[in-house]
Amino acid sequence: EDEINGENQLSSDKLLGGLLAPNFTKRDCLSRYQSISYRKSSPYVPSLYLVSKLREYEKLHNRCGPDTESYKNSIKDMVSGQNDSSSECRYVVWIARAGLGNRILSIASAFLYALLTNRVLLIDEEPEMANLFCEPFPNATWLLPKDFPFMYRISRFKQNYAKSYGNMLKKNKINASTDLLPTHLYLYLCNDYDHHDKLFFCDQDQTILRNIPWLIMKSNLYFLPSLFLMSSFEEELDKLFPDKEMVFHHLGRYLFHPSNQVWKLITSYYKKYLADAEERVGIQIRIFHKNSSPFQQVMDQILSCTDKEKLLPQVDMEKSIVAPFGKGKSKAVLITSLIPSYYEKMKNMYLKHPTLNGEVVAVYQASHEVTQHTMKNVHNQKAWAEINLLSMMDVLVTSAGSTFGYVAQGLGGKRPWILYKTETQKIPDPVCGRAMSMEPCFHCPQVYDCKAKREVDTATIIPYLRHCDDLYWGTKLF
Ligand code: GDP
Repeated sequence: EDEINGENQLSSDKLLGGLLAPNFTKRDCLSRYQSISYRKSSPYVPSLYLVSKLREYEKLHNRCGPDTESYKNSIKDMVSGQNDSSSECRYVVWIARAGLGNRILSIASAFLYALLTNRVLLIDEEPEMANLFCEPFPNATWLLPKDFPFMYRISRFKQNYAKSYGNMLKKNKINASTDLLPTHLYLYLCNDYDHHDKLFFCDQDQTILRNIPWLIMKSNLYFLPSLFLMSSFEEELDKLFPDKEMVFHHLGRYLFHPSNQVWKLITSYYKKYLADAEERVGIQIRIFHKNSSPFQQVMDQILSCTDKEKLLPQVDMEKSIVAPFGKGKSKAVLITSLIPSYYEKMKNMYLKHPTLNGEVVAVYQASHEVTQHTMKNVHNQKAWAEINLLSMMDVLVTSAGSTFGYVAQGLGGKRPWILYKTETQKIPDPVCGRAMSMEPCFHCPQVYDCKAKREVDTATIIPYLRHCDDLYWGTKLF
C-alpha cells in the first residue's frame, strides 16, 4: 500500500465522500484509491443525491453496456432502423477532437448529460488515448466496441455532416411533430458549431432528442454550464450540485483516474522531486501565440505575479549562492509547459542567487515536448501525468484560457491565480488574479434564448453562471 503521508486515511476519505464505488479491484487501478494520499483531501463533499445517482448510473451501465444482451439488441435496432421505445437502454457516444484538456472536459459534460437523461456514456477511444485512464464504472467498460456499426461515419463526422441534428433542423428534416424519429442522430458540439447545432441547448429540442436511442456526439467543449440554463434539468441539477462550483471537481475525480502506467510516472516523479518540500507551487505556462507572447514579457509577468501574490520569494541578483542552501522553508516549483526556457531561466535564478527571505526554492519541469502532438499516445501520457502533478500542488498559477490548467485546478479543488492574456508588447495589468471559481470556463456558450427566440447574454440569466475571468465571452459556474 502506497501511502505517501504515512498515515492510513479513513475509508470514507479514500472513497472521496462516497463519490467512488468501493467495489473495484484495487490493483487494476492503483490511482483510484491512492490519489487521496497525494492530493490534499478535498473539503468539498458530494451531495448524497449525487452519490446515489452515480450508484444508479453504474447499475444502468451494467445492464446496458457493451457485452450485454441489451446492448446487442439496441445495436440491432439501430442498424435496422427500428425505434424500440420500450427499451431502458439509451446511449450517448462521445467522439474525440482536440487536446487532452478539451477532451476531458467534454467527456465530463457528456457524462453529466448522460446522467440527466438516463443514458449510458460510451467513449470512442482513439489509439492516442489508449491506456490513459482506468475504467470509471465497476465491472463494465465505457469504451465503444470497435465493431460499432458506424465507425466509418464517425471518423468523417464534421460540422457540415448532413445527418447531424443541426443540419437536419436547418433542412427541416426533423421537428417536434416528426412521426418516425430516427434510431440514431449525430450531435455536433465543437467550437465551430453553428446556431442550429446549438439548439441542442433548448428544452423543446431535448424533448425530440429524448426519444432517440443513440446520440452520437462529437465535442471538444466544456458545454456543461449551459445545461444549467435548461429548465428541464434545473431541479435535478439543484439536487445533484447544491454548490455549483463543485461540478467538475466531483465529476472529474469520479471519472478520470490515471492508468497504472501513467500513475507510475506521476508517483515516481512526485516522490523524487516534490514530496519533501514544505510547499509546492505549480505554474502552468501555455503559450497559444508565440508572437503576441514574447518570452521575456511572459517571464516578467510570471515573476511579477508570484511576487505580488507572495507565492514565491524574490532573489537578490547582486549576490551569488556560495555555500549550499540555507535552512529556510523549502518550496518546490513545478513548471509545466511545452517550452523549456521558462523552467531554465527560473531554475537558474533560484540556483544561483539567494532569496531575500531565506526560503529555498527548487524548480522542476517533468517534460519538454516543445510542440503539441495530440495524436501521439506517449505525448498524451506525459500531458496527463503533468495535469495530475499540477493537481497535487498546494498553490496553482495557470495560463488564461487553457483547458489543460482547468482540469488540474478542478481535480485539485483549487482556485488558481490566472495569468491574464498578454497583448502584443504589453504585460496585462493586473498581471494575474485569483479565479472566482475552480470551475472550468465554457469557451463557446450559445447566445440564444430558446423561448424568446432572440439573442441573449447567457451569463446574465441565472445567479451562478457568469462570464469567465480569463475569457470574457465564456461562461463559468461559481
Ligand atoms: P489547451 O489547448 O491549453 O486548452 O489544452 P489541451 O490539453 O486541450 O491541448 C494542449 C495539448 O498540448 C495538451 O493536451 C498536450 O498535448 C500539450 N501540452 C500543452 N501544455 C503542455 C504541458 O505543459 N505539458 C505537456 N506534457 N503537454 C502540454
